Amino acid sequence: MNLVDVLNGAWNQILEITSLFVMPDWGALIGLLPILVVLGLVAPFVTFMALGTVLYLVRKPRIRVAFQEGPRSAELGPGGEPVFPVGLPYCRRDAVVYPSGTHRCDRCHDQLAVICPMCGLGRSALVDTCSNCGLVLKLKGRSVVVSASAGPKPGGAAAA
Ligand SMILES: [Zn+2]
Ligand SMILES: [Zn+2]
Repeated sequence: MNLVDVLNGAWNQILEITSLFVMPDWGALIGLLPILVVLGLVAPFVTFMALGTVLYLVRKPRIRVAFQEGPRSAELGPGGEPVFPVGLPYCRRDAVVYPSGTHRCDRCHDQLAVICPMCGLGRSALVDTCSNCGLVLKLKGRSVVVSASAGPKPGGAAAA
């Protein structure tokens, strides 16, 4: 008696035991086969598509924030005057806010200004250290951009 015989015997036993409980309607099962095949092939595909969509939707906002790098127009206050975020270089003449690390305006080539996140004093974007309170503003790194646009605490990540 070899292994195949043992397996065959076991399989026959399983079939016998099963037939005691279920009388298989083979015609109906074969009729269901295409549906089962379709479900077996399509269901995982649909599941992966749904997962991919969910992952994409979850990740999308973060990517958009992370790449918010280019110059943008300053938001306007209630009186129509431009409001500049603290800790980011800006051009007063064009009302454009630049990513940190920028020193000159792309449009008028003026020197940019920056508002100190700690004391609110304006100064040239070329100067790292605030002459009023001594805060050193690191003008490189994306954390300044992200925290200034996403969080209600401007300058929290910029304070060294
Ligand atoms: Zn300008
Ligand atoms: Zn200051």
